[in-house]
Amino acid sequence: MSPRIWPPALDWRASTHWDYDAAAMDAPRPCVLCGHPSLLLSDDGAPCHKTCAEAWFEQHPDAWAAYEARRDRTTSVTPTTNPQAIETDNALFDQAA
Ligand SMILES: [Zn+2]
Repeated sequence: MSPRIWPPALDWRASTHWDYDAAAMDAPRPCVLCGHPSLLLSDDGAPCHKTCAEAWFEQHPDAWAAYEARRDRTTSVTPTTNPQAIETDNALFDQAA
């Protein structure tokens, strides 16, 4: 198993990667990798800079490949059409006709 994206590039735009509590208290916790204050959170919820995590993955290609595989499994779910919305649309159409 080899990584597809190299060097590792994380997408941490999700709100789960932001430490709202620490930001509100203006008390960022130390990054688990470099020890400097960080308002970003890893996937596990640990304070961690995105750049630190990417650098760590760069040193651990196997871990990055596993991360990519896990991420792709969870994001490959395609949204299904809401049947309720379709019925509502049809009802409106019937009234207009
Ligand atoms: Zn860091």
